[in-house]
Amino acid sequence: MGKAGWDDEYDAVVAGSGAGAMAGALTAASNGLRTAVLEKTALLGGTSAYSGSAIWLPGTQVQERAGIGDSSEGARTYLRALLGDGSAAHREAFLATAPELVEFLEKDPAIEFEWRPFPDYFAAPGRLDLGRSFVPLDLPAERLGELAGLVRPPVDRDRAGRGHSASKPMMQGRALIGRLLLAITATGNGAVRTETPLTDLIVEDGRVAGVEAGGLRLRAKRGVLLAAGGFESSAALRSERGVPGGAAWTMAPAGANTGDAIAAAVRAGASTGLLDQAWFCPGSLMPDGRAAFTLGFRGGLIVDGSGRRFANESLPYDQMGRRMAAAEGPFHLIFDARSRGLPAISVPPLMPDEQLASGAWVEAATLPELAARIGLPGDVLAGTVARFNGFAGKGTDEDFHRGEDPYDLYFTGGEPAVVAVDEPPYVAAKIVLSDLGTKGGLRTDPDGRVLDGADRPIAGLYAAGNTSASFTGPVYPGPGIPIGSAMAFAYRAVQDMRR
Ligand code: FAD
Repeated sequence: MGKAGWDDEYDAVVAGSGAGAMAGALTAASNGLRTAVLEKTALLGGTSAYSGSAIWLPGTQVQERAGIGDSSEGARTYLRALLGDGSAAHREAFLATAPELVEFLEKDPAIEFEWRPFPDYFAAPGRLDLGRSFVPLDLPAERLGELAGLVRPPVDRDRAGRGHSASKPMMQGRALIGRLLLAITATGNGAVRTETPLTDLIVEDGRVAGVEAGGLRLRAKRGVLLAAGGFESSAALRSERGVPGGAAWTMAPAGANTGDAIAAAVRAGASTGLLDQAWFCPGSLMPDGRAAFTLGFRGGLIVDGSGRRFANESLPYDQMGRRMAAAEGPFHLIFDARSRGLPAISVPPLMPDEQLASGAWVEAATLPELAARIGLPGDVLAGTVARFNGFAGKGTDEDFHRGEDPYDLYFTGGEPAVVAVDEPPYVAAKIVLSDLGTKGGLRTDPDGRVLDGADRPIAGLYAAGNTSASFTGPVYPGPGIPIGSAMAFAYRAVQDMRR
């Protein structure tokens, strides 16, 4: 231990290793700050590594290169229409930072992005029908060398305890985390410490001076950035805060995000907000009791515990999740032989045989038989499907307007969104309310500074990503908002530390 009781000294200490944490660490390390990334688990990247890595940072050089006519002004119109002006200061900080952040990141030889069409999630002024988000380019694993083994693999391989595929480059979230890791390593100022969970903050003279992590006392001369995910994997905190869904059904890596950083900051006087909120999504129940993020429906219909539809199944996943939270389950996706397997995208992919063998999917030759097997009245389910098939015939969903929004058609390849379900055998797939992480947490100012109960910044303490209360409140405006906003506020936090 050093003379002041520290095991090690850094300028910036970052807890967590998702996209926000890694962007913050790169900002610090590339500006000459001696930086530590502390990760609780043996692998880097958290849910960010599992993600599709769409990044919603508007008005940047990436959209300009793609010629999609995105602008900060259009994005402002869109966010304002969805969020009002309640979080205007954060919105403006986010918009002002996006172009600067992307320019900074792409200056690094390890980092390159490209625009990828994916519609914004709401019909509101300023929306771009093909979206404004972008993704990192795939990363050949050889570029990472032995560091590759540190990056959390895709969700299916990770849950099975398998590493990366030897034959494929790192893609999506893995590419993002891998690229940020390469860039941090190249600065020579970044130490990445896995299996080093932050357990507490050390406060000296009214300022956060360092952290306790993995049994060590680590000094942070400029500041501590908490970007260690939300509390989606804590069943106790979810139930205490009333977050619908379940810890077993969240998409976050098992056991990783249990709200440790939020709790440590609260002990240091931090205030919290939005604690009942998450980035919700429908999840297909899997044989092991976990869920698979299910989106992009191109067939089938979802019924509630009464056997009736309750929403447009093609809604953007967070909106569908919120409809589920307001309805009564259990929920089932009903589809038929026509769709040749799940008529949607699932992450991880589902194996029909395993789904059927486990009872997560049930199959029958007729709808009344299917209904009986899942405990629904046969006449109600048959009536729901008959009405739905009638809409397919007319080409109009008179109940929930499925297919009327560009988002609904994005996944159907131009085919109608309402397709008749009338080719036996019929399948009922159990659908649960899943999430991509909680989005409530530490209240911050637009520079990522954590606020106390009197709205005063706690000196030396910053938060970003799902550790912080999102400026988007209960709204998920478009693909890449969780990661884009995590990166933007982490970047701003480190700029503040440098001042
Ligand atoms: P995480 O990325 O989960 O990182 C938190 C890290 O902190 C973890 O590694 C965890 O182990 C670590 N940690 C926890 N506690 C401690 C502690 N005490 N000390 C140290 N470390 C700790 N969002 C998008 O924006 N775009 C997308 O395209 C997208 N696609 C998605 C696709 C899938 C399949 C999933 C599952 C999610 C997707 N999301 C997407 C959502 C997004 O990935 C997450 O909401 C976001 O990445 C969360 O970032 P985070 O940094 O807050 O948490």
